[in-house]
Amino acid sequence: MLIVQKFGGTSVANPERIKNVASRVARCHAQGSQVVVVVSAMSGVTDKLIKMATELTPLPNEREMDMLLATGEQTTIALTAIALHALNVPAVSLTGAQAGITTDGVHTKAKIKNITPRQVHALLKEGKVVIVAGFQGQTPEGQITTLGRGGSDLTAIALAAALKADLCQIYTDVDGVYTADPRVVPGARKMAEISYDEMLELAGLGAKVMQSRSVEFAKKFGVPFEVRSSLNDNPGTIVKEENSGMEGVVIRGVTLDENQAKITLVEVPDRPGVAAQIFKAIADANINVDMIVQNISHTPNAPATDLSFTVDKPDLPKAAKIIDGLRKAIGAREVIADEKIGKLSIVGVGMRSHPGVAAKMFGTLAGAGVNIQMISTSEIKISVIVDITKGKQAMRLMHDAFLENQT
Ligand code: ASP
Ligand code: MG
Repeated sequence: MLIVQKFGGTSVANPERIKNVASRVARCHAQGSQVVVVVSAMSGVTDKLIKMATELTPLPNEREMDMLLATGEQTTIALTAIALHALNVPAVSLTGAQAGITTDGVHTKAKIKNITPRQVHALLKEGKVVIVAGFQGQTPEGQITTLGRGGSDLTAIALAAALKADLCQIYTDVDGVYTADPRVVPGARKMAEISYDEMLELAGLGAKVMQSRSVEFAKKFGVPFEVRSSLNDNPGTIVKEENSGMEGVVIRGVTLDENQAKITLVEVPDRPGVAAQIFKAIADANINVDMIVQNISHTPNAPATDLSFTVDKPDLPKAAKIIDGLRKAIGAREVIADEKIGKLSIVGVGMRSHPGVAAKMFGTLAGAGVNIQMISTSEIKISVIVDITKGKQAMRLMHDAFLENQT
């Protein structure tokens, strides 16, 4: 068996944790498996490096940032190899470049172009454990690059694909992917399995288990992987291709994103170009928009409609200022900014084949007197904006309604 094991920042946070990782890897090696280990920087290190650079200048040169950030992972690969040597396990550490990871030249968010893991194969053949630095690669010209925050996940998935690994395990500080945040919903359960698409929706909705790009990559190249804890031996959650059995479960998970805010333009004249003008201004300020809701207008003589959209909460002041500035030019009556909202979502591939999911969701909210301010849907997700003070209660209700009697 060829196994790729990735350990995140909290799993290698200090020498004690690194020892723990080493003994887990040693066990796997002793059972006769070929093991490739991918590690992140120790938790907090990447942030600290970024902070030091931005204390020197607000916008540091991106090539030099990659040079700097790559050191975080380089520290952990060497320490992990040393910890394995202490257990008498032959191990060699490799940088991303040495592992044959070639990327494009977009510093700080490079994309992997190809992997030629010649050294990795040769070392495995000699019976060594190979430890690869996550999050980094090299351009064809030999410049060091990094893959974007959380990019060690991507290194692990991409290496598993290139090496045709039998197993890819993502070790983290949680036991797997849960049906809801267990801190909010006491009955939340760890899922045994989940499809790539469900995982992507959950990640995008604030269930931050893994970098979304890595899940997209895994889906594209058909790499199944397991998310599990490095602190115990519990089985984790398998993320894989959707199969027919998965549609039997209507809703896989419930999430609440309390980090959004809503802007409403009241009585926007209903004519071509207004929405374009609004969202161009928002985009020019580099602000991401999530939900957008607009309906038909009613007054035939002076057609006008209300338009609402959501942005990340920290972007609200900036977005509100931009929209206020546009209000007169557009001819809207008023701009209302509201940060006391939460986005509640239910996700599941099963909703494609089960009618009545939206009705049940809205009925459950109605029964508890929770007002719905906005609604948006995709094929496998329904999201509603609700008053933030009702968010957690609504999340528990949703979990009870859809997930309580399910295995
Ligand atoms: N150390 C990098 C980060 O903190 C990459 C990773 O942890 O996956 O974003
Ligand atoms: Mg990380």
